[in-house]
Amino acid sequence: MIFNHRRNDFPSLSHKYNGHQLIYLDNAATTQKPYAVIKAMNDFYVTSNAPIHRGIYRLAEEATYSYEMVRQQTANFINAVSPSEIVFTHGVTHGINIVAASWAYHMLHEGDEILITQLEHHSNILPWQDLAKKKGILLKWIPLRKDGTLDVTTLPQLLTNRTKLVAFTMHSNVLGDINSLVSHSDYQFLTKSYHSSQQDFISLLIEQSHKKGARVLLDAAQAAPHEKIDVQQLTCDFLVFSAHKMLGPTGCGILYIKQELHPHIKPASLGGGMVYNVTQQEYSSRNMPSLLEAGTPHTAGVIGLGAALTYLTEKINFIELQEQETALCNLFLMQAQSIPNIQILGPNAFNKKHLISFSIKTIHSHDVAAYLDNYNICVRAGNHCAQPLHQALEITNSVRISLYIYNTDRELKKLIKLLSKLI
Ligand code: PMP
Repeated sequence: MIFNHRRNDFPSLSHKYNGHQLIYLDNAATTQKPYAVIKAMNDFYVTSNAPIHRGIYRLAEEATYSYEMVRQQTANFINAVSPSEIVFTHGVTHGINIVAASWAYHMLHEGDEILITQLEHHSNILPWQDLAKKKGILLKWIPLRKDGTLDVTTLPQLLTNRTKLVAFTMHSNVLGDINSLVSHSDYQFLTKSYHSSQQDFISLLIEQSHKKGARVLLDAAQAAPHEKIDVQQLTCDFLVFSAHKMLGPTGCGILYIKQELHPHIKPASLGGGMVYNVTQQEYSSRNMPSLLEAGTPHTAGVIGLGAALTYLTEKINFIELQEQETALCNLFLMQAQSIPNIQILGPNAFNKKHLISFSIKTIHSHDVAAYLDNYNICVRAGNHCAQPLHQALEITNSVRISLYIYNTDRELKKLIKLLSKLI
C-alpha cells in the first residue's frame, strides 16, 4: 500500500461529507492546496499587503521585492535564462491569449500557417481560430485517430515553410503524455523522413518546427505539475502553465517568452504598470516583462505560487512522484479489466502516467460523477474542454480521474469497488 504522509499537509483532504473522507481525483482541473501556500498568502495580506512597482514606502518596496523574488524562483524552476522571460498571467488560457495578441497578431500575416494538434484544450484552439479568421491565416491540425494515436505521418505535409507557429500540449488533459500517443512505427517513419535522432516526439516536433523557421508554444498545463521542465533543453519559444494545477492559487499563471523574441512583443493590455511615458497623444512602453503586466497584478497569488514552487522543490522528487502516480494508474487499469463495459481511452492502456479517461457504454459520464459524489469522490465528467479530441474518438464525453501527490491506492480501490457496484 502507498501510505501518503504528505496528506497531512493538506487541510481540505480531512473534510468529510456524508461520513465519507474526501477522495479528490480531479487534479488535472485544479489541485488542493497545502498549508504552506494558504499560510503564505494569508501572511502576505496580514503583514505585507501593499501595491507593487509603485510605492516609495517600505511596505510597498517589500511587497515588490517578494513578488520579484518569485519571478526569479519561477525562472529557476523551469531553467529560464533570465527572470525577464517570466510573465505572470491569470493562467494558461490567459497566457495563450497574450501570445496571440502580443506576438502572433503582429508577426503573422495572410497566408501564414499555424499548426496545432487535435489533442488540444479549447484554450489552445480558440485564440488561433480567432486569429486565423482575423488575419487570413490557415489553421492546420495534426489529426487524432479513433484509437487515440496521433497521426504524425501527416507532419511532413502539414509543417511547411509557411508555418510560423506550432502550438501543442505536452500532456493532453484527456489522454496524457503526447509522446505516448505516437505509435512506434509512426515515430520510426518520422525519424527516417526527417533523418532525426531525437528520442521523443516533443523534441522532434520542436526541432523540425525550428528548422522550418516556425516558433513553438508548449502548453505545459498538465506537464509542469508532474515533471521537471527545462525550457533551455526544450528550446521552446513560449511555454505556459497554471499555478492552480500545481498546489498554487487560482488566478495565477506563468508565460515564458524566450529572450530573443522580446523585441517583437507588443503590449496585450494597455494601462498603468506597462507604460514608461505618457503624453496626451502617445505613450512609450516599458520592457519585458512589465510590458505584459498592465494593471495591479494578483500579488498574493504570485506569493502563493512561490510557496507552491518551494513545496514542490523541497518536498517532492519528480521521479518518485512519477513512479507513485504510474503505480496508482496501473493499479486502477489492472482492476478495471474485470469491470464490464469500461473503455479506457487512448492507446497503450498500460502507459498512463497521472490521468486516465474512460467511458462506460451504458452510463453517461455525468451519472458516474454524480454517483461517486455521494461517496465524496470527485472525478471529472464531460468533454474536459477538448471537444475536437472527443470528436476524433467518436464519443461526446468521458470520465477522467487524475492523480497528484496525495492520492493513495486505498482511494483507487474504493473507486473501483464503487464503479463495479454501479455497473
Ligand atoms: N491546457 C490544458 C492542457 C489544460 O488541461 C488546461 C486546464 N484544464 C488548460 C490549458 C487551461 O488552463 P487554465 O484553466 O488554468 O487557464
